[in-house]
Amino acid sequence: MATPKKADSGVKFTHVDKMFFPEAKFTKGDLIRYYIAVSKFILPHLRDRPVTLIRFPDGVNGEKFYEKNAPRFAPDWVQTFAVPRRHEEGDIRYILINDVNTLAWCANLGAIELHPFLHRVPKLDQPTHVAFDLDPGEGSDLSTCARVALLVRGILDPLGLKAFPKVSGSKGLQLYVPLNTPVTYGASGAFAKAVAELLERTHPDLVVSKMSKARRKGRVLIDWSQNSPSKTTVAVYSVRGKSAKPFVSMPVTWDELKRTKNARGVRALFFSPDASLKRLAKVGDLFAPVLKVRQALPKVFAAQASPVEPSLRRYGEKRDFTRTREPAPSKVTAKAKGTGGRFVIQKHAASHLHYDFRLEMDGTLKSWAVPKGVPTQLGVKRSAFAVEDHPLGYLKFEGTIPKGQYGGGTVMVWDIGTYDLLGGSYSEGNLKLMLKGKKLKGEWHMFKIRSDGGKDVWLIAKSQVAANPVSARQDDSSVLTRRSMARIAKDNDAQWQSSAR
Ligand code: MN
Repeated sequence: MATPKKADSGVKFTHVDKMFFPEAKFTKGDLIRYYIAVSKFILPHLRDRPVTLIRFPDGVNGEKFYEKNAPRFAPDWVQTFAVPRRHEEGDIRYILINDVNTLAWCANLGAIELHPFLHRVPKLDQPTHVAFDLDPGEGSDLSTCARVALLVRGILDPLGLKAFPKVSGSKGLQLYVPLNTPVTYGASGAFAKAVAELLERTHPDLVVSKMSKARRKGRVLIDWSQNSPSKTTVAVYSVRGKSAKPFVSMPVTWDELKRTKNARGVRALFFSPDASLKRLAKVGDLFAPVLKVRQALPKVFAAQASPVEPSLRRYGEKRDFTRTREPAPSKVTAKAKGTGGRFVIQKHAASHLHYDFRLEMDGTLKSWAVPKGVPTQLGVKRSAFAVEDHPLGYLKFEGTIPKGQYGGGTVMVWDIGTYDLLGGSYSEGNLKLMLKGKKLKGEWHMFKIRSDGGKDVWLIAKSQVAANPVSARQDDSSVLTRRSMARIAKDNDAQWQSSAR
């Protein structure tokens, strides 16, 4: 098919005989012809996504530059979307390639490579998919990437998440996990990072999760950081300007990846523009499911990405929710703020055994560490060190926080129930409480005695009459599950091993 002299839009194509890839005798006209021919397949993937163009006005042997802002001479039928600049005043007017005329116009600008964002306008914080960018270091190649892609799939499969691979058209591979559900970059980025770090731990000889070039030698970087509102990834069906010959970022099947074991297998996964068009005519758009399949990320990531209540920020900052099963913090609803009245005491075998006393107030749990536990006798005052507010989900948290994580150790729900505030308030550092727990019943008095560098120290004492003493057996029994501390620790080990297998 000959390159048309001009587009339907009336735009005249210029310098169509210019050699863009001299080694392959591939001209600028060939590039325009390819993009027009592939438009039916590529346009649904580009629709409403701001793009960065990589322009090579003189072909791959000339200068190249990244173009984010629509050039001033862009015709008025080229759709754009203004996005505020991140570090300075003003907007970037991103091009939206929503029709064949715009696509051909970009090709005529020498835009060999098209790099869209993972989101569509106007939802700039909602990626439609997760992207794992597998980038081979020195001494590894596409076959190494294929092995790593299969490892990633081994993690996604049990989570019920489908993924679709494409070759980058350069050295690497990308895996797309369709979402098409309301997800933020906070969630997709945390998820991709957790997967990359998990594989780095289990396959240190094969996988790195950090950018450092030195560490990458002989390995594959799983670049999770692409899942960001400021990053673009090469479009499926985009030509690449990375080598002397034009290759296309092309979807491949998992079976094809499994067969990529040697140099011959690797060569089979490089597609010229013509080979790509032939393949598309035969197999169609293997990436069509990326546009349609609706999937949600595991809950822990979704929760992590939702806005966090200011009073729970410290709680969130101290913990890595890809490691610990403690509840992630979230925004406290107006409804939750109006409620109160529950309390929990957790027995916590961290570096030092202690009890955590938590009172529900304004939608979060005010918390104290009580090293010796809440007293039951009269006349005994115990220190209670105020710690960061905890989310309400912590009321029923029982299990083991992994070693090396904040508060690593076993946690038991030692007592749970409701309380009445008989007098005083948290802000004045004085609380008269009536506890109605399963173990503790009666009145207690808490009061702040000093502030050590921002850390408030309180005392807690039994008031009125002594409470029933807690027996040793009761002390080592969960009010939720009747389990002992040893049992909780052991159950966790069993669970951990079965999920690691
Ligand atoms: Mn604790």
